[in-house]
Amino acid sequence: HLVRAIPLKDAEGNIIKWYGTNTDVHDQKELEKQKDNFLGIASHELKTPVTSLKAYAQVMESMFKRSGDFKNADLLGKMNKQVDRLTNLISDLLDVTKINSGRLQFNETEFDFNEMVEEVIEDVQRTSFKHIIHPDLNFKRNIVGDRDRICQVVTNLLTNAVKYSPDANEVIIYTVDHQDSVQVSVRDYGIGISAELQDHVFEQFYRVSGEKEHTFPGLGLGLYISSEIVKRLGGKIWVDSVEGKGSTFCFSIPVNS
Ligand code: ADP
Repeated sequence: HLVRAIPLKDAEGNIIKWYGTNTDVHDQKELEKQKDNFLGIASHELKTPVTSLKAYAQVMESMFKRSGDFKNADLLGKMNKQVDRLTNLISDLLDVTKINSGRLQFNETEFDFNEMVEEVIEDVQRTSFKHIIHPDLNFKRNIVGDRDRICQVVTNLLTNAVKYSPDANEVIIYTVDHQDSVQVSVRDYGIGISAELQDHVFEQFYRVSGEKEHTFPGLGLGLYISSEIVKRLGGKIWVDSVEGKGSTFCFSIPVNS
């Protein structure tokens, strides 16, 4: 039950009466749980066939390449890319169900932070021909944390920067050493986000809808997952943005100095 109440006081400030509402939220919670359960089972079931599709497509691509059939190799290459997109969507859905049921796990190791960021830049740069990603990396120490999860946050911010700046051709990524924390900032010169919507972009399934000429694909989960990861690491994530000018997404996480 969700109880909301306001007190009615007399001239001396003594409470003489309560006005309130008493809402049954049990049904709503049950519905949320069913939705999460369904999402969990569905994404899990989707993962298996997509994983084998990927394996077959890869084998076929290299077979065509070896036999010199570059036309078909190219087609299979395109298919592989779409399967990768599908895999990423499914794994975002799985992550959300894990977050919502408190089952998102972290595996800590010591790793070279700079090398991880450079790896992400290389990965994102490989698939975005239009943009040049400029690195300005000033955090050069090893840290202890979940490398894959932190990598996921950097990847999300960088792919968004590229995706939401269709008319720009550069993106900048900075890392800063604050001694007891590391900060990563990703700057783009894209569509930006209006001030009143900036707080919402970290919400589950939230997407800014506009009557822009470009439509951007996505489920509205990347920033939600990123903010949950950063929160779990004891850090924070935020955005500075001007509509029509571009955005800077930043996060910082504590490190042992
Ligand atoms: P998705 O990109 O799949 O929609 P995200 O959670 O990554 O999901 O982002 C949520 C929303 O925030 C996006 O739909 C978009 O409207 C907005 N957004 C995210 N990154 C940027 C950016 N760099 N510039 C402008 N808008 C952005």
